[in-house]
Amino acid sequence: MKDQFNRTIDYLRISVTDRCDFRCRYCMPENGITKRRHADILTLEEIAEIADAFIDLGISKIRLTGGEPLVRKGIAELCRQLKSNHFLKELALTTNGTLLPQYADILKNSGVDRLNISLDTLREDRFRSITRVGNLRETLKGIEAAERAGFTGTKINTVLIGGFNDDEITDLVGLTRDRDLTVRFIELMPIGEAARWPGTAFMDANVVTERVPELQYLGSDGVAELYRLPGAVGTVGLIRPLSHSFCGACSRIRLTADGMLKPCLHSDLEIPLRGLHGEKLISALKDGICRKPARHYIDRDGVSGTEKRLMSEIGG
Ligand code: SAM
Ligand code: SF4
Repeated sequence: MKDQFNRTIDYLRISVTDRCDFRCRYCMPENGITKRRHADILTLEEIAEIADAFIDLGISKIRLTGGEPLVRKGIAELCRQLKSNHFLKELALTTNGTLLPQYADILKNSGVDRLNISLDTLREDRFRSITRVGNLRETLKGIEAAERAGFTGTKINTVLIGGFNDDEITDLVGLTRDRDLTVRFIELMPIGEAARWPGTAFMDANVVTERVPELQYLGSDGVAELYRLPGAVGTVGLIRPLSHSFCGACSRIRLTADGMLKPCLHSDLEIPLRGLHGEKLISALKDGICRKPARHYIDRDGVSGTEKRLMSEIGG
């Protein structure tokens, strides 16, 4: 389906839970979120019903995210259910990786096509510090488990944080030398916890090519600019929502864990979907797609219009 600015909307991100086993400093408060009651979170059946309605309207790619999607009970059944709709071309999932040693094979067998795994640093102490509770080795084991399970084209999401990991750019790029991975450097966005961070934390992703000048430009895939080290197996991506807005090519729409359709990550506009079925559901989805804003209005000095929500609630 097209929105009012003639953008084709074919990519749905679903936050399947606002809960997480990490407490990343830029994403969640130290004490976690005020937990919603289970009854306030969409059931798996509701998610599947809404997803099917979206697919009827032309969504061909779905990404499951959160919070941490792998802490949601029944996630594999949901994947199987979604994939049973043959009009869905791609099912992807974004995870912090710690539960992948248990889940990678199950996800592969449940129809998940691709994984994004978040990894901001290769140093044990920094990993613990940024996630507050995480263990680097577990996430690295998760990446290996994904490779063993046969996932290809796995993307590693690295949020660039000035004064925290910008001295590790070369090491992180180095992960792509011998492995079929795309390490994607994402500019930190002023959402939720990060909205209160100092300006020095927000870096232009250009710093990656400045630090690693041998990176060769391959082209753009719409959201990321892609590069490769000479002779490397994997690739490097730069995602620059702040310094280079890609709103004009945005094909995404989001569903929050509590059942709100969110046409834009950075807008407060939300459309309640719970309790809607059949034609009423379809017309609410059409309404949401039509009201997708032309662009976001954040920049490095500003804050996102979605301030009142945490990234873990919306689904990054
Ligand atoms: N728990 C999963 C994970 O961490 O991969 C999925 C949810 S998480 C909210 C999705 C992605 O959003 C992660 O890669 C995370 O690093 C990113 N993220 C969270 N807050 C962000 C922010 N303020 N700016 C940029 N990326 C952010
Ligand atoms: Fe959890 Fe992902 Fe947010 Fe980290 S970025 S706290 S892993 S939801």
